[in-house]
Amino acid sequence: MNLTNILDLPNIIVDDFSVYQNRYQINCHSTVSEAYCPDCHCITSRTKVYYRRKLQDLPITDHSVYLTIRLRKFVCLNPACGRHVFTERLSFAANNARRTKRLDDFILRTVVDQSSIATATLLGKVGITIKKSAICDLLKKNDLNTHQYQC
Ligand SMILES: [Zn+2]
Repeated sequence: MNLTNILDLPNIIVDDFSVYQNRYQINCHSTVSEAYCPDCHCITSRTKVYYRRKLQDLPITDHSVYLTIRLRKFVCLNPACGRHVFTERLSFAANNARRTKRLDDFILRTVVDQSSIATATLLGKVGITIKKSAICDLLKKNDLNTHQYQC
């Protein structure tokens, strides 16, 4: 079993990783070679450029896990479409998110029955770096009662 299998993220291959203090830095790339334009839904495989996206993921053995994923910016080939370039979407992270969905799910399960500041402290002990304000933002985004969690 290798780190790609352990991470178990769809269409993601691990290239290498490093460990510094209590943090794993994992470099990986996507195997997706075509995508649908979010505006006109035409499929394309033309790549304009590659870029790197950083995401925090679930910890491994109490070490923080930070992914750097090489992704594509695709060119929409439909001349009638107003969008020329769009970024590759990830099924496991919301657009513009800095954490994976499974990490957000874990945080939301952890925050039940305690304050957001206590949750941030607890999560820090198991390798998840998150501020109280980010937990409150996550609660609001998921329509959870922020008063219950002392936000
Ligand atoms: Zn398009």
